[in-house]
Amino acid sequence: MTEAAPAPFTVDDYRSRMDRAARAAADAGLAGVLVAPGPDLVWLTGYRVPAETERLTLLVLVPGQDPELVVPALEAPDAARATGAPALRLRDWTDGVDPYGLTAPLLDARGRFAVSDNAWAMHLLGIQSRLPDSSYVSLSESLPMLRAVKDAAELDRLAAAGAAADAAYDEIRRLPFAGRRETEVAADLDALLRKFGHEQVDFTIVGSGPNGASPHHEAGERVIERGDMVVLDFGGLRHGYGSDTTRTVHVGEPTAEERRIHDVVREAQDAACRAVRPGIACQEVDRVARAVITEAGYGEYFIHRTGHGIGVTTHEPPYMIEGEEQPLVPGMCFSVEPGIYLPGRFGVRIEDIVTVTEDGGRRLNTTSHELALVN
Ligand code: ZN
Ligand code: ZN
Ligand code: ZN
Repeated sequence: MTEAAPAPFTVDDYRSRMDRAARAAADAGLAGVLVAPGPDLVWLTGYRVPAETERLTLLVLVPGQDPELVVPALEAPDAARATGAPALRLRDWTDGVDPYGLTAPLLDARGRFAVSDNAWAMHLLGIQSRLPDSSYVSLSESLPMLRAVKDAAELDRLAAAGAAADAAYDEIRRLPFAGRRETEVAADLDALLRKFGHEQVDFTIVGSGPNGASPHHEAGERVIERGDMVVLDFGGLRHGYGSDTTRTVHVGEPTAEERRIHDVVREAQDAACRAVRPGIACQEVDRVARAVITEAGYGEYFIHRTGHGIGVTTHEPPYMIEGEEQPLVPGMCFSVEPGIYLPGRFGVRIEDIVTVTEDGGRRLNTTSHELALVN
């Protein structure tokens, strides 16, 4: 993975994202969008706040107005260096000034605003106290598709992140498993993701034997044994965009039952990936995967949704889940990750990131789905 870093996003990219957000808010009947430090702010402006603090930083997007960034004076120089900064009016404030009083005049006092999900309650309460007739809704619930459709430059980054995660898998399966703790394999996965260019590792799940039957298990002190199924689910950010892939490997020769269950998951995952095309509802992807597993008699052991979106975070809308009627649109990227979990015994999951193309879907993870036998 020594290819050149991708061309950076430009101020025009950020300007058009902020325009899109303001327009989407207006279309949804909202007076604007209040964006806290975190993935929304990074995506909209390129400004990555190292650590959010009790000092208010807030991007205010109001349809028909220039974007404003309320920022502590001591962080203003950093904010001014962000690529999107020329498209912003910086409203810096010094300690002693009331930042909520500074923010309130930027907002319609009776407006309804979308707010970043991760905004601190103290900041929202501060603004609310200055504008008692305003109201607020979650950004991910009111504008769930804001970041869902990726442009070509974003797709390139997601594909490169996927290729890097695949390279990590190709190496990890050549390393010894039997006799090592899950945490040791997880540390190897972390190092491999970084070796292949990830600047951030979000998760390195190593679920061996019965631990694999618990999809939330991360990695523990269990020593992996011959005969174990091992679920490996790992990902993070590379050049700011996410990877997330799962393969289930087996230590030594598997039983016929282990092979059969792995085959069912593989068929379910493949059928769901093949179903991806513009216009079908997100829930249809879940239904296709679930039908295969149910047909094989394991429906009650597939205990989570089939997938989630990915972009500047590793989990975001759209969700591939029953009840989600949002149609797929070219440029969307999400995971397809059905599994079967037999309590107390083992689990199997296979996960690829898929992007919607003009006439179907394309996997961004391309390592083999065969049950890999490890040592
Ligand atoms: Zn086994
Ligand atoms: Zn995953
Ligand atoms: Zn996932």
